[in-house]
Parts: sequence; C-alpha cells; structure tokens
Amino acid sequence: MPNYGRILAAIDLSEEANGVLERAAGMAKHHGAELHLLHVVEPLSLAYGGDIPMDFSEVQLQLEKQAEDALDKFAKQLNLPKERCHLLSGRPDSQIHELAKTLEVDLVIVGSHGRKGLALLLGSTANGVLHGANCDVLAVRVGSQK
Ligand code: AMP
Repeated sequence: MPNYGRILAAIDLSEEANGVLERAAGMAKHHGAELHLLHVVEPLSLAYGGDIPMDFSEVQLQLEKQAEDALDKFAKQLNLPKERCHLLSGRPDSQIHELAKTLEVDLVIVGSHGRKGLALLLGSTANGVLHGANCDVLAVRVGSQK
C-alpha cells in the first residue's frame, strides 16, 4: 500500500461531509500525512447567469462568507491550521484537480455523493474528480447508501 504524504479532502459542507472528514482524518493519521481541506463555492452566475439578468455579486459574497464560517467549523473539529483550509470558487471538480496539482497531493478524498447526489451511485463531482485526477482518489461511501 502506498504511503501517502499529503492528502486533500474536498467537502461540500453538507452532513455527508462528516463521513468524508472522519475517513480523511483516519487516513492522515495512519499515513502520518499532511491533511488539507477544500470547499469550492460555485458561482451563481455559472448556474443562472445566462437565464436571469441580475447582479449576483452581493448574494455571492454572502454565500462565500457562510461557506468560510462553515469550513472553519469543520477545520476546528480536526484542529487544522488555517493554511491547510482552502476556499475556492468555480466548478468543484476542476478546482479540486487544480489544488491537488498545486499542492502535489498523493490522495484526494471525496464523498461518493453529496447533498445533491443522494439518488446516484457516484455523484457528478465524485465522477469528475475520479476521471481527471493525476493521483489516487478515494470516494468514501457516505450517508444512507452505506
Ligand atoms: P456530488 O458528486 O456532487 O454528489 O458530491 C460528491 C462529493 O464531492 C462530496 O461528498 C464532496 O466530497 C465533493 N464535493 C461536492 N461538491 C463540492 C464542493 N462544492 N466543494 C468541495 N467538494 C465538493
């Protein structure tokens, strides 16, 4: 089994994130690895920009602030220092790939599905991360589908 030196756990800040974090913390401890945490805020303009002609910037700022606070809480559970917590904006799967490359992580950990993917075997983010990754990817089975 490879010895992972640096691990990136990507969380969607939903309840499912607890299962992902628990596994990530266990893997990091087992391997003596440096653990990083990432949440990606999806820009509203990506989802609605073309359809609704309005300025999303104020709402977007609020969403980012809420995400920062929530990420902080998750990080505190693991006693992770601030520099190991990353809040990015964009498409989750591509941002996860980018940060994994930048940090040169050996392992990315995601949930098999998140808030939006309960009915799916493997959610779309998990799928996207798996397909373009340059390192190992662990999809932790979370929620009621265990
Ligand atoms: P999904 O494929 O969207 O159902 O989500 C599967 C997993 O991908 C989640 O359990 C998270 O680990 C990760 N993920 C989904 N959305 C995000 C996000 N916005 N930021 C970081 N990770 C995410």
